[in-house]
Order: sequence, then C-alpha cells, then structure tokens
Amino acid sequence: MMVQYHRIKNQYQDCLLFYRMGDFYELFFKDAVIASEALDIVLSKRGKNKGQDIPMCGVPAHSADNYLQTLIRKGFRVAVCEQIEDVSETKKRGAKAVVAREVVRVLTPGTLTEEALLDARSHNFLAAVSLVRGNVAIAWIDISVGSLQVTPCSIDELSIHLAQISPNEVLIPEHVDTTVTDILDGTASTIMPLANVHFDSSSANRQLCKLYNVRTLTAFGEFSRPELGAMGAIVSYINITQKGKKPILQPPARKHSKDTVQIDATTRRNLEITRDFSGQRKTSLLGSIDRTYTAAGARLLEQRITAPSTQIDKILQRHQAVSFFMQQSDLRQSVRHQLRGIPDLNRSLTRLSLHRGTPRDLGALRNGLKRARILCELLDGEESTEADHSSTTKPLISNDENYAALMVSREKLTGFDELLDLLEVAVTEEPPSFMKDGGLVKEGFCKELDEERKLRDQGRNHIASMQKNLAEETGISSLKIKHNNILGYFIEIPRAHADKLLTPPLSQSFIHRHTVANALRFTTERLATAESRLLNAASRAQEIENRIFGELNEQVLLTAQHLAETTAGLAEIDVAASLAELAEELNWCRPRIDNSGILDIKGGRHPVVEQSLHGLTGQPFVANDCFLAGTDESPRIRLITGPNMAGKSTYLRQNALIVLLTQAGSFVPAESVQLGVVSQIFSRVGASDELAKGRSTFMVEMVETAVILNQARSNALVILDEIGRGTATYDGLSIAWATLEHLHEVNRCRALFATHYHELTQLTNQLSRIANATVSVREWENKIIFLYEVHNGAAERSYGVQVAKLAGMPESVVERAREILNCLEEDEQNAAGKTASLIDELPLFAESRQASQNQLPPETNTLINKLNQINPDELSPLDALSLIYELNELTNKK
Ligand code: ATP
Repeated sequence: MMVQYHRIKNQYQDCLLFYRMGDFYELFFKDAVIASEALDIVLSKRGKNKGQDIPMCGVPAHSADNYLQTLIRKGFRVAVCEQIEDVSETKKRGAKAVVAREVVRVLTPGTLTEEALLDARSHNFLAAVSLVRGNVAIAWIDISVGSLQVTPCSIDELSIHLAQISPNEVLIPEHVDTTVTDILDGTASTIMPLANVHFDSSSANRQLCKLYNVRTLTAFGEFSRPELGAMGAIVSYINITQKGKKPILQPPARKHSKDTVQIDATTRRNLEITRDFSGQRKTSLLGSIDRTYTAAGARLLEQRITAPSTQIDKILQRHQAVSFFMQQSDLRQSVRHQLRGIPDLNRSLTRLSLHRGTPRDLGALRNGLKRARILCELLDGEESTEADHSSTTKPLISNDENYAALMVSREKLTGFDELLDLLEVAVTEEPPSFMKDGGLVKEGFCKELDEERKLRDQGRNHIASMQKNLAEETGISSLKIKHNNILGYFIEIPRAHADKLLTPPLSQSFIHRHTVANALRFTTERLATAESRLLNAASRAQEIENRIFGELNEQVLLTAQHLAETTAGLAEIDVAASLAELAEELNWCRPRIDNSGILDIKGGRHPVVEQSLHGLTGQPFVANDCFLAGTDESPRIRLITGPNMAGKSTYLRQNALIVLLTQAGSFVPAESVQLGVVSQIFSRVGASDELAKGRSTFMVEMVETAVILNQARSNALVILDEIGRGTATYDGLSIAWATLEHLHEVNRCRALFATHYHELTQLTNQLSRIANATVSVREWENKIIFLYEVHNGAAERSYGVQVAKLAGMPESVVERAREILNCLEEDEQNAAGKTASLIDELPLFAESRQASQNQLPPETNTLINKLNQINPDELSPLDALSLIYELNELTNKK
C-alpha cells in the first residue's frame, strides 16, 4: 500500500494527499504533520519507514468537507485520492492485492464547486496573469458558475484589476517579471506558478477552440496574445484540477478597463465596500444594502458594487429597472415571493457538468425553473396558474421605458420549457442527497423501474412477515430479523434462547453466523433466498435509476447555454427588485447620471452609518448637500475643516458611496442627485501601517497619496482625509498644501479634502476652484454639541481637547492639555500673521512649476502680458485707476 501511496504522492508534491482508506481519508509523512497542525487533529503513527515511525492523521470521509474547507481557507491545495474499485474486485487479484486508487480531483482555493466549500453569496474567482513583451492581460473565471472574462491592461492597472476581481487564486507563469509578483504579494490571493507552456497563446487558441467547439475564436472577439495566454492557462488548470472533466463555460467575455469605475485596493478598504475594517460583510456597504433573495442575485449585486459602470446607457437601464419595481410595489412583492425559493441554479449546473451533481441538483433545477416560469407569467401581467397567495397582478404599462428596461431581463427567462416539463414528470418532490439512497425518479415515469421497485418492496414485506412466522415457529417472541452492511439480513435472538436454535431439530435449518455481547445471529435458507430476490430487485432498480439520472443530466447539459441566460435574467430581476425594496424601505431617490462633470447631492446621507445609527440609538442621521462643479468651474474641490468627531470623514465617505451606488445602478440615500459620470474613485482615509512590508504609517500615507496624484484624471472623484497627519506639523501642512495645489492645477478633478490644518482655508483666496466647507458644532458650558451640519465657510478650531475629554481621558491630562493649548495659541497670536504672510509670499505650486515650463493658464498669461505692457511713468492718475479696475476684473474672472 505504501508503494502505491508514494507513487501517487510523487505526482502531487505540492498538494496534501487525502488518501482514501475505507471510511477515512488518511494523510501520511509530512502531509500528516502539516494537516494535523492546520486542522488541530491528533497526529498518530502507522508502521515504520527505514526504522522510523510513519506519521499519520485522518479525517472521516463523511465529514471531510469541513476539514477541506479549513485547509483551503488556509491556502493549501488538496489532492483527493479515492478507491476506484470494489474491494471484491481487489480480492480477485489475490489476498494481498491493494485496492486500486486514483486522484479524482485537486481542490485549490480558486477551483471549488462544492456548496459546502463555497460562500453562496460571493463569487470564487480563479485568475491568470499573462505577460507578452510588456503587454499584460488578466483572465478570470468563477468555475462554480462558468463565467470566463478577460481584459488587457497595463502593468500599472494590474493591481486595480486584481482589487476589483479579488481572486482567491492567481496563476502566473513560472518565470514571471518581479513587478508582477510584487503586485501579487500585496493581495490576499494564493499564487500558483504554472509552467510557461500553459500560457502559450497558440496552444491556448487551439484549446479554447476545442473547448467551445468552434473553428476560430473571432465570434467571441479579437483576443491579443496575452489575453489568449491568460485564458489558456485557466483552461489548462481546470483540466489539471478537475482531472479532465469540463465544467460548462460561457463564451469568454472581453472587458474594457474604461467600462468600469477604477477603484484601487486602498480605496475599496477605506470605503468598506464589501468588507468593513474588521473583515465583516454584514456591516460593509454591500452587507447593508443587500436585500436579494437568491445567491446568484447576491453575487450580481456584489459584482455591480465592486465594478460600478461608467457607461451611462447601462446605468440608466439599471435605474429604470429599479424604478419599474418602485412603481409596481404589489408586483414587486409577488416577484420577490417567488425569488425567495429559487436555489443556486448556476452551481447545480456546474456540478452536473462535472459529473459531481446529485439528485438534489436536479431537484433544485426543477424547482428554480418552475419559479422562473411563474415569474414570466407575473411579469407578463398574466394571472399565474401556479403562484400561490400573491399571484394577482395589475396589467403592466407596456410602453413605459422602465418596463422596457426590465423586459431585457425578462426575455432571458426562456428556452427551458421542455426541460422543465421533463424534470417535472421525472424527478420526485424531494430527491435524495445521493444516488445510492435511491428515490430520484418519480413513480410512473419508467414502467420497468416501477416493477423492480414493487418486487423489492414485496421482498421487504415478505421478510417482515417472515419474522412473525419464525417467532411463532421457534417460540422465541423476541426474535428479530435485522440488517447490516456486513451480514445483510439475519435473525437475531437473545443469548438466553441460544440453545433452542443451536440444538436439533432447529439447528438443522438455522445456520449460526455471528455472536455479539448478548445475542446470537443466524440465517436460514429461506431468508437467504428472500434476501437475494430482494437485493436483485433493489440493485436492478438502482441501475435503472442511475441510467435515468445520467439521461436527465445529459438533457440538462444540452440546454446549459440557455439555462445560463435564464439564471442571469433571474439574478438581474432579483437585484432590481431588491434595490427597489431597499429604496422604498430607506427612502432613497433615483439619481440622475449624465456627462456634465458635476456632482450635486442634495440631502445626502451615509448608507451604512444612517442604518446603524437608526438600529443602535434611534437617532436620525443629519443629511447634507455636496456640490462640486463641472470641469474648470468652481468649486471643483471642497476643503472641509471642522472639529474632531464632527462628521467630516462620514461626509467624505457618504458622497463617494453615493457616487458608487449611482454607477452601480442603485438608488441612493439622498433627496436628489445629479452626477456627471465618474471614471475613478480614490480615497485616502485614516492611518495604518504595513510593518510587515517595511512601510511606516507615514510612508503608507505618502505612497497612497502619490498613487492618487499620479493617476487621477479629470473625471476622477478624490476623497482625502487628513493628509500629512503622520509627520511634524510643518512637514504635514506643506505636504497637504502642495497636494491640494496639485489636485487643483494638474489633476483638475472633483475632490473632497478634510483637514485639521486650518491654515489651508486661506488657499481659497489663491486657488479659484476651491471652496471651504465646515461642519458646525455648538459650544455650551465648555462642552461641544455636534450638529453634523455641513455648510460653507471655515472652522476656527478643532476642539480636540474637548473630544479627548469626551473619550474619557483622565481629568488631569485634559486640564493640562487645555493649559498647554492656551499657551500655544497665545504664542501663535504673537507670531501673528506668520502663516498668512507665508501663504501670501509663497508662489503657488502651479505658478512656480508652470512658469518654469512656460505653460501658464490663459488667464494668468493675459494678466502677466497686461502688467508687462504698463509703463508707470506714462500713466495719469485716472489711467492708473481704470487700470486697477481692469486688473481687478481680470483676477476676479480667474
Ligand atoms: P475626526 O476629525 O476626529 O476624525 P470626523 O469629523 O471625521 O472626526 P466622523 O468620524 O465622520 O468625524 O464622525 C464621528 C461620528 O459622528 C460618526 O461615527 C457618527 O456616529 C456620527 N456622525 C457623523 N456624521 C453624522 C451625521 N451627518 N448625522 C449623525 N451622526 C453623524
């Protein structure tokens, strides 16, 4: 057996080998040591190798999923090695023959299909990164759903794509550039290097054509060499891990970077889009807006939130579908009632395609499609014949644009009628979990099966009546006929009556087989005959059921492409109905999206803080406006000052989240919103360090700010909170100042900038597209009351000492801080105007830089030309006065 073990293990060096032995999976040698630690299970030993004990540990096969889940979460890969023949076959080869075993699949973080190992409401992506002469492509797939996507990108964009996809496993060529590995090191994905040959574009092309059964891939798009390489690596890896079995794959979809809002990993973390800071989904943006009922709906919502669209048409269509369900609230309730019972069809389909499906998957498909049929009737405004309580609907407004938008999803719910009819007549109401349990096929579907089942059941009844007769015949009333897997059917009597059956005359017909603690077990010829008849019928019934299962499976796979469309349509309807439910529940409005470049939010609220305030304290959330003007208009940037704890960060984030929700296709927490489409969202909030990567808090802050300043284009929205706080005051102030100037002059994007450097508020005098805003508080008896109202203007102070008091700092420390603060403020007044004059004296960042590059903005050029033309000696007092008026007008314009 050990020889067999080593032969198999040698082929799966990089995996833990789960080696099946009867009812257990056993691990040996180093695998056993690693697994026992990772799973916290006992490490034992079995036999010896070169005089040393062989370490061993094992897990019961029936509960292996839990252990596998732990190992996969910890980043291990597991090769599952099964016994692939019946022990009776092995015995035929001799007493010492070893049962044949084979690895039937390799489990890796990115290639899971089992329900128990997957999070139903999240995608599980496997990605591959390919590089050909500096050109990069990334392909990704959720094999449990079958969607293959690919995008070309630059090396700079790679981390943004990885952040958006958030793959659990990434395939890279063995000898890839270190820039790629450095980028991947910053992600939480498991990295899997594959031989370069798997990324070869020509063989990838051939593999893909074969997979999709087409002569050329052009019908799916023109793919570049790195794109082909990345997709090829994915297909190879599926082949390796699924041992040649092919899941249903939809044709590859080519994505373009510009079609979705670019959001890097830091911004995602800061805005707590899918996970909050502690890693929880529930209290993230996604968790607090998710009202979907189906797993596919939840996954689609996650996709929309993680990759909001930049395409106005698409966004509009999503808003229209939500509007439709807002208008039709009765219909929405009926639709949601039906959606509630829809199982995870995509994942059932994938399991069936990999021959890993169970009767339950067929049942799930039947139930889901049945609901889809009812949904069609509801959406078509028909009286449903099958829906229960809430089936009556009003006639729909068929010429409404909102209705038309929803119909795009409704049209996808077609092409499954024949399959559904078949499943309805063939599959029982509650199919078993495993084929071996029997009971998949409905009575009446197959005559032959019904007959075998009848014989089998008669056999069972016959054995039951035999028990009664034998008890009478032997005079042992406690005689029982029982069954177990080793003996089959047997007669059991208490030990006290043993003599009766062990001595003639009864001993002639009762054959003793086994003795247990207090009982003896026998068989008789009649029992053996009845059993064999029963078993024959049972095994014939089982064979027929297996055959029918295979045939139904085939039928499902023939309709697979249609079914994939249907499941997509169901998910879209779920998302639209759930967003409408959310909007009505929380009083959200439909935003307006256009190309204006404006951000105009009236009465905006934070989608998560509002709900948690409501839940925790019942306090209302104070709504605030936010206006940022179109390109080259004012104000493009808002500088927000205000006391600690006043609500600045909340305000910053809520505006970014409203933008994100709008472009994801949702309604938003506001009274009204007009949004000029945003192509990038950047956010730098708070401070954290990455000591493991050798970056201090300040370094992290600077790296993140550098990314924003280098990458933000004019359609970006930038949220900066307290830049420069991690260093000395003047260094920090200078950095914050220069950053603001850069955003104003170079990036020219919309930005919200919160700061405690009150000196910066003076910059509005110099930078025309910046406006000050502040959050109001009221001071009362040396305490502060937070009003959370944002309005124009600048704050005078931060009230840090008062907030420290609120936080429970010792009274003595608070008092001392107050004294020190008074001293410092006095000092500052003595040096009055220092900073103000500094502001006046320092040339603007842009002016000094642009002057050197001779690229002054046109207004400044006009101003300088005008000044150059002046000859003071020639000016009369009246000319001088009118010139001053002229210059004044010019500067005002600027
Ligand atoms: P600091 O400068 O100390 O970082 P801050 O001004 O950024 O503080 P936030 O962290 O945004 O303050 O807000 C503090 C708390 O105030 C929030 O956790 C929230 O509970 C509450 N809050 C913020 N904004 C509002 C609002 N508009 N309405 C009601 N409560 C709010």
